[in-house]
Amino acid sequence: MRFEPVIGLEVHAQLLTDSKIFCPCSTRFGEEPNKNTCPVCMGYPGVLPVLNQKVVEFAIRAALATHCKVAPYSRWARKNYFYPDLPKGYQISQYELPLCTDGYIEIDTSGGKKTIRITRIHMEEDAGKSVHEVRGDYSLVDLNRAGVPLLEIVSEPDIRTTEEASLYLKNLRAILQYLQICDGNMEEGSFRCDANVSVRPVGTSALGVKTELKNMNSFKAVEKALEYEIRRQIEVLSGGGSLVQETRLWDAEREATRSMRSKEFAHDYRYFPDPDLLPMVISDDWLQEIQATLPELPEARKQRFASQYGLPVYDAELLTGRRDVADYFEAAVQIHSNPKAISNWVMGDLFRVIRERKLDEHFYIESWPIRPQHLAEMVRLIDEGKISGKMAKSLFEEMLKTDVAPEKIVQEKGLEQVSDLVSIEMAIDQILSAHSEQVTEFRSGKEKVFGFLVGQVMKATQGKANPQKVNEILRKKLAGTS
Ligand SMILES: [Zn+2]
Repeated sequence: MRFEPVIGLEVHAQLLTDSKIFCPCSTRFGEEPNKNTCPVCMGYPGVLPVLNQKVVEFAIRAALATHCKVAPYSRWARKNYFYPDLPKGYQISQYELPLCTDGYIEIDTSGGKKTIRITRIHMEEDAGKSVHEVRGDYSLVDLNRAGVPLLEIVSEPDIRTTEEASLYLKNLRAILQYLQICDGNMEEGSFRCDANVSVRPVGTSALGVKTELKNMNSFKAVEKALEYEIRRQIEVLSGGGSLVQETRLWDAEREATRSMRSKEFAHDYRYFPDPDLLPMVISDDWLQEIQATLPELPEARKQRFASQYGLPVYDAELLTGRRDVADYFEAAVQIHSNPKAISNWVMGDLFRVIRERKLDEHFYIESWPIRPQHLAEMVRLIDEGKISGKMAKSLFEEMLKTDVAPEKIVQEKGLEQVSDLVSIEMAIDQILSAHSEQVTEFRSGKEKVFGFLVGQVMKATQGKANPQKVNEILRKKLAGTS
């Protein structure tokens, strides 16, 4: 029997507001423990939460960018559970009346375009962090993260392969980054993903028993965990066994999932409307105001890059995957209009350096090793025949070390191409007389000797001669016309 997986994803995205969702405390990451706290986010009795309007605005931005409906009337709910990092004994979230519902994201799979529906997007506060067994048998609690605003984005179980899951997550993360509402850093936990996975015989429509996967903190981990879990479920069912509904943790070291809790220990959160917060009423005017501020989104920008700059879809996709990369590319193209050459340098040498220096781990690449103007000017030098492609490689390495304009580096370092015909002719004459045997071979019809002679001339000029002119002059001399 053949099985197909059914996957739904639940993403928690940390919002980039300056202050927390219900109090004025800072959301800054990496502060000394419990520095960003006040009676509200520490859960003192008698305090009242005050909603941060920016959080609602950010949630609406996400909703509009993912084709969701924004509810004119929605409500806050208490999700009750006990844990040391949750001093109130409940988390403020949304439940039966969330802010955003019924959206979708499109993905480009190897089998064509596919729509993944979004069930809902709601806002909630994050909990604090327990630090276990620092020195001995006790735990510490850090409440800096308590009250940091989150969006929970829940997809329908429309995903059928790990490829689709990965594309959905990458698209969603790119959208949130373009909207500048989430930095999308999976390692630091500002973009977290849980997955609901089940399998069923191909051709049937009833859903199988599902497990919930947690603890995946990279795209690679999500893919590996899904692959493992799908294989595990198929093996159990094929062997005549049955599955239990449970939560399983991904263990990156063992590359396996393990059971955390089964359904009999599942929480009953006893949700009820939060009496401390008023229901939210969103006006059409505000929606339109926010709509007008939405930037061009990744999908639209990708299509524009392909049509406006004549780039292959592959280039357009890579360049628009991050907003800062797309901005960099467009800044360079405005200085010198050779999009494909600039794209090659960005995707090749520049990406290599950025990866090596680990500059791409955050929301924006804060300091690019080479500014876009300089990259564009370097491509212009190549296009004007002032330097060869080979010399550009050395120029690029120089540009990584200094913020000086490429033209100036070329002058200072003597990289300028030897276009001077006299010196090229002298070099050619020397090579021709030193290799008379090859010259005879060429004249008797051995065309491939020509490449050898060009190579010798380039070597003699230390790669600085304009290869086109070397070709031209060499042909003329060998033909006896010069
Ligand atoms: Zn606070």
